[in-house]
Amino acid sequence: PDLEALDAALVDCFACPRLVRWREQVAREKRAAFRDQDYWGRPVPGFGPADATIAVLGLAPAAHGANRTGRVFTGDRSGDWLFASLHRVGLANQPTSTHVDDGLELHGVRVLAAVRCAPPANQPTPTERDTCAPWADRELELLAPTLRVLVCLGGFGWQAGIRALRDRGYAVPGSPRFGHGVELEVAGPGGAESVTLLGCYHPSQQNTFTGRLTEPMTDAVFSRAVELAGR
Ligand code: SF4
Repeated sequence: PDLEALDAALVDCFACPRLVRWREQVAREKRAAFRDQDYWGRPVPGFGPADATIAVLGLAPAAHGANRTGRVFTGDRSGDWLFASLHRVGLANQPTSTHVDDGLELHGVRVLAAVRCAPPANQPTPTERDTCAPWADRELELLAPTLRVLVCLGGFGWQAGIRALRDRGYAVPGSPRFGHGVELEVAGPGGAESVTLLGCYHPSQQNTFTGRLTEPMTDAVFSRAVELAGR
């Protein structure tokens, strides 16, 4: 299996009844508001090269962002913030991600979400989180040969990142606390190279409008990721 096969299987996932209903309902109702575009309304795959050294793990697609465009973090303010920062630190060829044919290329970084379908109020249930976790596990497993840094967005991304690495046999000690800029190197299983978890506040408007997360703070985390990945 490769990432392409994984993505093809993912977009046909119907495992969470509430999220399947919601993603399709939003697509049906909102298609009228975005008449000139197709509305994706399905699980959203990761985006970025298969030999990425850095992965960025977010929460879930936004109803009118990735659930609309079909590309992770694309079409909403959080994504605008994220991709602008990736561009400033040299990880993207352009500062914006607006739709799937916009020419965006990421360099050495793959962006993915812990839950692949848009949840109502951006809140997956614990069962939905657990049901979707194997998709991120498999994606990180496919990235493992080159992956050195996992940037976790927000507390949800942090917990999901720890869990994904633990599921794959990485030695994550205790219950490491999330914080912006927190860094934790974890040893790989059976002599595999270590991966460093990096915490970053989620670029939600709640954080960026209030100044809790600034552009320099975001760039500092991604610059550090570049440094750790040896890029
Ligand atoms: Fe499938 Fe994940 Fe979507 Fe649930 S959230 S339906 S597990 S892709």
